[in-house]
Amino acid sequence: MVRLKQNILDIKRRANAAAKRSGRNPDNIHIVAVTKNISSEKIQKAVDEGLVILGENRVQEALTKFEAVKSDVQWHLIGHLQKNKVKRAISMFSMIQSVDSMSLAEEINKRAKQIEQTIDILVQINIGREKTKYGIDPDEAVNFLEGLAMLSNLNVKGLMAIAPFKQNPEEVRPYFRHLREIFEIIKQKSIKNVHMDYLSMGMSGDFEVAIEEGANMIRIGTGIFGARTN
Ligand SMILES: *Cc1c(COP(=O)(O)O)cnc(C)c1O
Repeated sequence: MVRLKQNILDIKRRANAAAKRSGRNPDNIHIVAVTKNISSEKIQKAVDEGLVILGENRVQEALTKFEAVKSDVQWHLIGHLQKNKVKRAISMFSMIQSVDSMSLAEEINKRAKQIEQTIDILVQINIGREKTKYGIDPDEAVNFLEGLAMLSNLNVKGLMAIAPFKQNPEEVRPYFRHLREIFEIIKQKSIKNVHMDYLSMGMSGDFEVAIEEGANMIRIGTGIFGARTN
């Protein structure tokens, strides 16, 4: 497990350096450890190394891990959420980063109201307008966020995106920059129930560029746990 420890130190070191390069405080960069296809034992080891936010793609897969990981951590849902799983998801996750349609937002709001809670969410933007990815079209982002103001049991905390895959991370810089612009525009509108606190962008292959362009939340899987064996 020396490697896990080393991997985490390495990610932190690179994230800190990227934050400093862009004149930001490294303490404000949150690392989400992405645990899809990773065993509970390995997740616990990462938590023991000080990681406190865990990201899961699927409600079903998260269930067993929730019980196995004994420490005080926050679980974020980062994968597409089906409406029939909303009820379960909001009782499990402290944040849903992958809100990608108005009907899903409405369902989360409705279920949250039933249990008299407010749910933290991020809105997923399909920043590369890729057919294979979920998310709101960047051109519709402002309208979409304005539409969420009425959903009083949602607490909108920011934006999330998965950039198109490129061999050279420099090629994704314009996508990250564009999302940052949208983030700032929405922030300036001061929409009710909408707080642009988190800009969740950047994964193992491109997180340094994402931080340079304004990310304050990065989602790292292989960079921490190694290549997924599936
Ligand atoms: C898998 C995944 C990640 C992490 O990807 P890595 O390249 O392994 O770091 C981040 N975000 C989402 C939404 C993912 O599905």
